[in-house]
Amino acid sequence: MRATMMKFPLTLAHILERAGKLFPGSEIVSRLPDKSLHRYRYAEFHRRARLLAAALARMGLKRGERVATLMWNHYAHLEAYFAIPCAGGVLHTLNLRLHPDDIAYIANHAGDRFLIVDDVLLPLYDKFRAAAKFEKVFVVPLTGAAVPSGFEDYERLAGRGRPRQIPRLREEDAAGMCYTSGTTGRPKGVVYSHRALVLHSLASALPDVMGMGNHDTVTPVVPMFHVNAWGIPFTAVMVGAKLAFPGPHLDAVNLLDLYQSEQVTLTAGVPTIWAGILQALENEPSRWQLKPGMRMVVGGAAAPEAMIRAFDRHHLRVLHGWGMTETTPVASVNYVKRELGGLAGEALYAQRAKQGVPLPFVEVRAMTPDGEAPWDGRTMGELEVRGPWIASSYHDLDAESDKWSEDGWFRTGDIVTIDVHGYIKITDRSKDLIKSGGEWISSVDLENALAGHPKVAEAAVIAVPHPKWDERPLAVVVLKPGQSATAEELREYLAPKFARYWLPDGFEFVPEIPRTSTGKMLKAKLREQFRNYKSRDG
Ligand code: AMP
Repeated sequence: MRATMMKFPLTLAHILERAGKLFPGSEIVSRLPDKSLHRYRYAEFHRRARLLAAALARMGLKRGERVATLMWNHYAHLEAYFAIPCAGGVLHTLNLRLHPDDIAYIANHAGDRFLIVDDVLLPLYDKFRAAAKFEKVFVVPLTGAAVPSGFEDYERLAGRGRPRQIPRLREEDAAGMCYTSGTTGRPKGVVYSHRALVLHSLASALPDVMGMGNHDTVTPVVPMFHVNAWGIPFTAVMVGAKLAFPGPHLDAVNLLDLYQSEQVTLTAGVPTIWAGILQALENEPSRWQLKPGMRMVVGGAAAPEAMIRAFDRHHLRVLHGWGMTETTPVASVNYVKRELGGLAGEALYAQRAKQGVPLPFVEVRAMTPDGEAPWDGRTMGELEVRGPWIASSYHDLDAESDKWSEDGWFRTGDIVTIDVHGYIKITDRSKDLIKSGGEWISSVDLENALAGHPKVAEAAVIAVPHPKWDERPLAVVVLKPGQSATAEELREYLAPKFARYWLPDGFEFVPEIPRTSTGKMLKAKLREQFRNYKSRDG
């Protein structure tokens, strides 16, 4: 029998057009560099995104050509998010926290033709303009200052002219592109199709994922250059939610002010952002009146159990998720399944600190040298994933093709356990695992436990060489401001929670942990720094 359904392409153009028709009154708020708030509605966003798409087409942008953005999170970046793919081009978000040489390498590797840049980021652009050749550079005058000569004025593209019909797009056409923020090696490019972004948006909005709807007010703190702000701009526009963008102001006070003034209900970012927010809330508990129950999507690195608990005390709910650039990125999110309804106290928090269950259409397995690991919550294996929004290769790079198995699974490099209820728990990046006397020790478990100590702000646990055990764990600890602690004290704190051989041989106190441009701990740098560390019995 033949099915009789229409073949209807899943494209971002539909999301944009629908938003213009159905949600013209939904608001988009953006914090500008001078800290004032820019406000307009979807009707205006829709009009400007269509004008920008038409202008790009007039400039000769052809199907599949890349347009780079070097921008903070705000309304103009959202316009580019839709206009570029709707003109048939590919939105390539450049990570402004990278070294200028790396930005140039990435722009050249991607073959970016045009660049859209915030005026406040022109000094950064200046540092790599000689190395990266864009045909035209459009400047967004966020500060209101005149656009310097030699550049095009973004307002001429998005603020004037006539829209045109959006060209017919195929769902398999490329719509976006991001590079991995990898802690080692050259960045790798991933190209997203319209179809992948649409399906990812549909799944992200589900109640047991982000549960995003028309009544939400959404603040993506995660930068729009970090895997499309986890797809949130696409998902939010699909459901017509109000958006409140933080612009360049990502400090705790400015974010909390925005949460309060806009009564934000859903926000997202990496754990370091939340650590700062928590500190501010604990310092001044009655300063902000936030919307009770605001959901905070935490991903990019593990959300410590202590953080989830602490936010509960402030009536804010952490949603812990896992993903990668290669997975568009949301692949699993934690919610408490009905069958776990009886869980309480310690056991409930331990469950909520896991990275959650895979989204519909994402399949997962943990592989050991002996085959697939049982879902027993104990056996560690490398996480492999597959699904309609998982990349099937890197852009223009054959060297890494061994990350995909012959039957289509992607090897993530994350070491996990999966429990009987299907919850994934990341124990380490494979290169960060500590192997002591032939036994694996999870650095993430130790770090999360240390983060629960009242004097500890954050901790990284790394492997240091050991003559007898090959490797031993060393904890590198940042204390909260004004606190002091001894190694003995921290060791005693961990002792009841872990097997003896897991306890770090040493505790080193440092002012800060080095991080990557997207907030992940740079453990390779710490390993290098403590290469010659001598443990007590070494
Ligand atoms: P990126 O592609 O830069 O987003 O990095 C992806 C990597 O970040 C994953 O492979 C994980 O190692 C790590 N990661 C992402 N989310 C989490 C999480 N919730 N817990 C622990 N690690 C995470």
